[in-house]
Amino acid sequence: MSDESIKDITIIGAGPSGLFTAFEAGMHEASVRIIDSLPESGGQLSALYPEKYIFDVPGFTRITAKDLARNLFGQANQFSPELRLNETVVSIVDKISSEGPAQTLFEVSTDKGVYLSKAIIIAAGLGAFKPRSLGLPEVGRFEGNSVHYFIREKGYFKGKDVIIVGGGDSALDWVINLIDTARGVTLVHRKDTFRAHPNTIQQIGELAKRGRIKILTPFEVKEVYGDEAIKGIRIIDGTGKEADLRADALLLMLGFTSDLGPIEKWGLDIDDSRIKVNLNMETNRKGVFAVGDIANYPGKLKLILTGFSDGARAVKSALPYIRPGDKVRHVHSTSLKIFSKTS
Ligand SMILES: Cc1cc2nc3c(=O)[nH]c(=O)nc-3n(C[C@H](O)[C@H](O)[C@H](O)COP(=O)(O)OP(=O)(O)OC[C@H]3O[C@@H](n4cnc5c(N)ncnc54)[C@H](O)[C@@H]3O)c2cc1C
Repeated sequence: MSDESIKDITIIGAGPSGLFTAFEAGMHEASVRIIDSLPESGGQLSALYPEKYIFDVPGFTRITAKDLARNLFGQANQFSPELRLNETVVSIVDKISSEGPAQTLFEVSTDKGVYLSKAIIIAAGLGAFKPRSLGLPEVGRFEGNSVHYFIREKGYFKGKDVIIVGGGDSALDWVINLIDTARGVTLVHRKDTFRAHPNTIQQIGELAKRGRIKILTPFEVKEVYGDEAIKGIRIIDGTGKEADLRADALLLMLGFTSDLGPIEKWGLDIDDSRIKVNLNMETNRKGVFAVGDIANYPGKLKLILTGFSDGARAVKSALPYIRPGDKVRHVHSTSLKIFSKTS
């Protein structure tokens, strides 16, 4: 591998934190490689709730998750980072640099290749995440055609009878988001109470009163049946009462399990399934930083906006590993030539 392939910073994870970190790195003229195991950038925004509105990103009264992901990519891409999708990082190993011991170098191995980098910023969110299913073996054969865990395009559900299973924010948000697209929306939940934002619960109650949606609680899904695609489900309550519901699509919004997977073996201090960092985003390994949902420090909030701030700090902390001996200076975007061209 030639020296040209050495990047200043390798960012593991192309979620909102990773993308904004890449932008910040570009502001400091650092070369960047971003690696993500998912087929598209955006992390949870693209994979879990692309059509949902986000209201707490500064500067936007509201923005859909997929638009925010697209904007963040565009912002980072002004500096042309190398983006490697569909690739999972399995290990990071310290290397002795030909420039001597003052220059840290890491060998980053993925399931597809090996790359060299002067610093590492881990923006891996929850690690590899997997949606929870129903525990019914027959569900597997309908997955991807009529049983869904994520929604990419609302239009796919146009004119369909949709059953949503779950009682959290995702389930309730999608009930509200799909009523104008689907022919009918039914919400099935195993408890009588929901674990969602009080405003959302109130909205759901009003929609049910007006007959716009059906809510069936406390019911569990006992059976899912159909031929090529699902035709319906059988539900059961605690007293043994059963009912059949017709369905063209079943959305299982039961949350997801996350797994740090290979990251747990990278010799990092892990606290509450997250990587322990100090306020400079430094982990216990020199030259390795963590930002966003995966980073844990006192007072940490798992929000998009905290990931942005983490990214700015991590890049600043990484600079001495990229250009040892250089004085770290603060950069405002308004001072950079690249932006003055577009204004
Ligand atoms: C339904 C829902 C609604 C939400 N609503 C809001 C909201 O309104 N406002 C808000 O601020 N926050 C919200 N959040 C939280 C927000 O999405 C997260 O805080 C944010 O996505 C964290 O960004 P991140 O970049 O740190 O991690 P992520 O978005 O999780 O991205 C991490 C990326 O790292 C990749 N990765 C992991 N391990 C590896 C590996 N070993 N190799 C390569 N790639 C790897 C993953 O594939 C993923 O793409 C919501 C979350 C959910 C689930």
